[in-house]
Amino acid sequence: MNDIKSFDSQYIASSYGRFDLQFEKGEGSLLYDENGKKYIDMGSGIAVNTFGLCDEVWQEAVKEQLSKLQHTSNLYYTSPQAKLAKMLCEKSGMKKVFFSNSGAEANECAIKCARKYSFDKYGDGRNVIITLKNSFHGRTVTTLAATGQDVFHTTFGPFTEGFRYAEPNDADSIAGLIDDKVCAIMMELVQGEGGVIALESEYVKKVAEICKKKDILLIIDEVQTGNGRTGQLYCYMNYGIMPDIVSTAKGLAGGLPMGATLMGEKTKDTITPGSHGSTFGGNPVCAAGALSIIERIDDNLCNEVNRKSKYIIDSLTGAKGIKSISGMGLMLGIETEKPAKEVVLGCIEKGVVPLTAKNKVRLLPALNIPDNLLEQAVSIIRQVAGE
Ligand SMILES: *Cc1c(COP(=O)(O)O)cnc(C)c1O
Repeated sequence: MNDIKSFDSQYIASSYGRFDLQFEKGEGSLLYDENGKKYIDMGSGIAVNTFGLCDEVWQEAVKEQLSKLQHTSNLYYTSPQAKLAKMLCEKSGMKKVFFSNSGAEANECAIKCARKYSFDKYGDGRNVIITLKNSFHGRTVTTLAATGQDVFHTTFGPFTEGFRYAEPNDADSIAGLIDDKVCAIMMELVQGEGGVIALESEYVKKVAEICKKKDILLIIDEVQTGNGRTGQLYCYMNYGIMPDIVSTAKGLAGGLPMGATLMGEKTKDTITPGSHGSTFGGNPVCAAGALSIIERIDDNLCNEVNRKSKYIIDSLTGAKGIKSISGMGLMLGIETEKPAKEVVLGCIEKGVVPLTAKNKVRLLPALNIPDNLLEQAVSIIRQVAGE
């Protein structure tokens, strides 16, 4: 550990404030550090390891593809990518998919697609995208500009132009920002990094109506909320709306880097040859992993996610030291009396690893976390928050 820490501090760009933990291996919802100490994983690598660590079905799918063909580029057809796109469209109702490697890239494609749709139909100048305050959309220069938090708008300017920021849950705020330059509205339905805050259902429906009426595209950023996390395959299904573009990444390939931008009826033919591309996007190994994840996200699993969500909420609501719980499915934020970081450190001490988001303790366990581990983890969080 000491060697690793010194290599890290000497040779790795210092972008991360790391916990004093080095994990060696994992199995399902259990993590083991380099001394063999066992932890219950309540973060899934930030909503990435959808079915936990080293899930066997996923491993088999990935290993099988790895021994056949790891990469060809998008100059050729590959089977896992085509099958995955078909499955995503059939299960979501979206029409076509562009594959990339991360959430920021999936959003970048969504932004390009929205602007091109408008350019093709209305000509130059209708290119503004409205996003929400307190949102998070990524770390590239353009997705930082899309992110509705001033703290992200320093140091790296000039940023990409063409973003306006509306107050969440305030339809008048959006209406006040719309003019003939606006081509899209982009939002997370549960603001993840912003503190695990779900948007109100009436508000989202109203925004969807405004979009439809004015031919403004509705882009839903499902990088964190997607792939079963919020108790439906995609979170927009919880709201009864149909977006024009959906971006996703994190949990899509169960631990391998993959992003996807799903395009609906209006936008399915917007991306044309040469207008976008990616060397790695839709890589066969990642696509094979994603196929094994997406095919298992069915009604049964979603019911389990919702049952476990209710268990966590019921067990923590009103407990000593806990002020409130927000979020949806297995994407929950707990507001504690003690600072969130302190609660997380206390939990780690006792063998449970949650995350934070703003002032909240954030829980993003594997969707298939066994009941006994979930019960142990919740009991420890309760105990630490109440001490
Ligand atoms: C994590 C996240 C991103 C960025 O994803 P990366 O894979 O880190 O680029 C974008 N949007 C939301 C909502 C996210 O949670």
